[in-house]
Amino acid sequence: MTDLTTPIRTPEDADAALRPKTLAEFVGQAAARENLRIFVEAAKSRGDALDHVLFFGPPGLGKTTLAQIVARELGVGFRSTSGPVIAKAGDLAALLTNLEDGDVLFIDEIHRLSPAVEEILYPAMEDRALDIMIGEGPSARSVRIDLPKFTLVGATTRQGLLTTPLRDRFGIPVRLNFYTHAELQQVITRAANLLSLPIAPDGALEIARRARGTPRIAGRLLRRVRDFATVAGHAIVDRKAADSALNRLEVDALGLDAMDRRYLTMIADIYRGGPVGVETLAAGLSEPRDTVEDVIEPYLLQVGLIARTARGRMLNASAWKHLGLNPPAGSQD
Ligand code: ADP
Repeated sequence: MTDLTTPIRTPEDADAALRPKTLAEFVGQAAARENLRIFVEAAKSRGDALDHVLFFGPPGLGKTTLAQIVARELGVGFRSTSGPVIAKAGDLAALLTNLEDGDVLFIDEIHRLSPAVEEILYPAMEDRALDIMIGEGPSARSVRIDLPKFTLVGATTRQGLLTTPLRDRFGIPVRLNFYTHAELQQVITRAANLLSLPIAPDGALEIARRARGTPRIAGRLLRRVRDFATVAGHAIVDRKAADSALNRLEVDALGLDAMDRRYLTMIADIYRGGPVGVETLAAGLSEPRDTVEDVIEPYLLQVGLIARTARGRMLNASAWKHLGLNPPAGSQD
């Protein structure tokens, strides 16, 4: 994926500046938002910590943002870390014992915790306690330390990546979906206001159409479009200004980038439209299988360009059309 259209966070992303701060400000994901609002209110009125929350869905859809909003709406502290950063069980123990009552601990990429660290998390989530071994050999004994009543908020790209015992310990699983064009248009208009960039509704919609259903990509495209608009001396970003900037950036009408097109072209040219296994595709693209499954495919599936079958990936008729190719004679499409 190119830096411009990858949904994965890059160092230049000014994520923090554009993050909505309240549930009311958060655009889209209506079902998730409504459920969270109720659970947060219930926990607050009981004076209890919120049950553990798991956000899952493709990168860039607002998992980190929602975790921060939940803490803010609860009026509690927010600590953040990520699965690969917690190397040892002791690292997690240190984090947990430093929390205050009610605090939210956010663990991004929670599926990447090591098994030893995950073990610590089970009693911490269930009984809000830590079992620590002291000493070695015959004199070793286990000591139980009580933890504050914290809320764990985990984020992962796919729910299925979690081990069953970990997944079962989240009382509130929340799936995030790709955004509609109208929702992204709102996200973009809001971000443009924050950036003091005049934007016309059709300009925001054009960027929305090409942002792969993902607010992070929408924000990034908006900033690049702003650069072009500034240099070209446009007073306002309208559809024409957005279109010409995005064409120059090689973001096509569906928001697909060079890697998406390589993926589709490979299935078309080499495998006559499929089916072809994901491992084979990953090897052909020189990308890790996880990247193919978590980053490239979800959006292509969402817009119906490809289908996932028991025998592998297949191109749909719309993909042939998008590539400007004819499906081979005798193919099912
Ligand atoms: P994730 O953790 O799922 O990868 P983030 O929460 O970091 O995604 O969001 C990525 C970017 O998209 C942030 O800049 C955030 O401000 C923006 N964003 C995400 N969801 C929304 C939304 N619903 N409304 C406005 N901006 C959003």
